[in-house]
Amino acid sequence: MIPLAVALLVVVGRCAPLPTVTLPLVDALGHVTAGAVTAGEAVPAFDNTAMDGYAVRSADTTAAPVTLDVVDTLAAGRAPDVAVGPGQAVRIMTGAPIPPGADAVIMVERTRALDGGGQVVAEVSVPVGNHVRRAGEDLEVGRVVFEPGEVLQPAHVGVLAGLGIHAISVVRRPRVGVISTGDELVDGSEPLVLGQVRDSNRYSLLSLVREAGLEGVDLGLVRDEPEVIRATIARGAETCDAVLTSGGVSMGDYDCVKVVLDEMGEMSWMQVAIKPAKPFAFGLVGDTPVFGLPGNTVSSMVSFELLARPALRRMMGHTQLHRPRVRATAASPLGRHPDGKIHFARVVWTYHHGRYEVRSAGGQGSHQLSSLAAANGLAVLPDGRGADTGDAVELIRLHEARRPD
Ligand code: AMP
Ligand code: MG
Repeated sequence: MIPLAVALLVVVGRCAPLPTVTLPLVDALGHVTAGAVTAGEAVPAFDNTAMDGYAVRSADTTAAPVTLDVVDTLAAGRAPDVAVGPGQAVRIMTGAPIPPGADAVIMVERTRALDGGGQVVAEVSVPVGNHVRRAGEDLEVGRVVFEPGEVLQPAHVGVLAGLGIHAISVVRRPRVGVISTGDELVDGSEPLVLGQVRDSNRYSLLSLVREAGLEGVDLGLVRDEPEVIRATIARGAETCDAVLTSGGVSMGDYDCVKVVLDEMGEMSWMQVAIKPAKPFAFGLVGDTPVFGLPGNTVSSMVSFELLARPALRRMMGHTQLHRPRVRATAASPLGRHPDGKIHFARVVWTYHHGRYEVRSAGGQGSHQLSSLAAANGLAVLPDGRGADTGDAVELIRLHEARRPD
């Protein structure tokens, strides 16, 4: 067996970031910037008011209450054409440019209109700059807004739109093909004949691919026939940036994914010292990475999480490849036996008063997928006897907190 960290080095090292593409802003979410982005204009572009109120000269308000003549009204979007002279004010709405001569805004709630709006009483004095949003206060011209390697979140997309940048250079999103293998597998909802097993891995893996921000390509369910497996993997390697297979990589008589991949490319067969998901294959077919994931339902998903996801994130241009791990306390026993492997136990985590607590999510067999569905995290149990209630454990959070029961 080889340690997980060693397997990761092999896999991640061979999955280089994809080339860059220019995308329209509406498609940019979740991509990683390929180059630095610089502000070509200031945001805000001009001094403007943060409040509905009156643009005034601060010095005029020192002796408040004071009555000022209202010489203009400015809605957002209108350029000022009247300056504010001594003893004058301009009625102004949020976002409108500060008119020349004014250096402060007094909010409408601190004023009283007189004479049908021809005059206004400023009831308080306001300092210079009061409620004024300065040009460039958010972004100055020339400022590096994003470095290369930035993951575009909704706020990033908004910032780019705010700068008038509508095409952005990002690392291309990998297309990931998914293949299920196994003579026993069936698709669909027909009643099962004894011995048949429903193909669930293709669906769970395509979902993991999508959840990771990648494009999933369904390459179908194939029999344990070397020719068919070979042709399907070849098609995947040609049309996708990476291929995931499930099944056929362990020690059974019909585990032909292993045999076929050996013929097709340069493969590494690994017995990774983890549970679930010990058998794993990785290699390049042409220059397309192929991940041979184990067939058991939980194993294929955990194998994706621990080995494929970090590598695929690297292809997407991410530099943070792994989920952060946090310290948690076992709120139920998470027992195990020593076997030289790290166990990843399906757990439900909750967060109370600054503390993560984890409980077993149910049966931990590698075929018991329902407990992975019930789980929102994996507890990392190093080789040994596991954790007792109250012990500290490392937690990988897979999903948000579930409602406490
Ligand atoms: P294998 O790795 O091909 O020996 O498969 C190990 C176990 O996982 C067997 O019980 C298979 O029936 C099961 N299995 C393999 N592929 C899938 C799949 N796509 N969906 C559900 N179970 C599967
Ligand atoms: Mg099989």
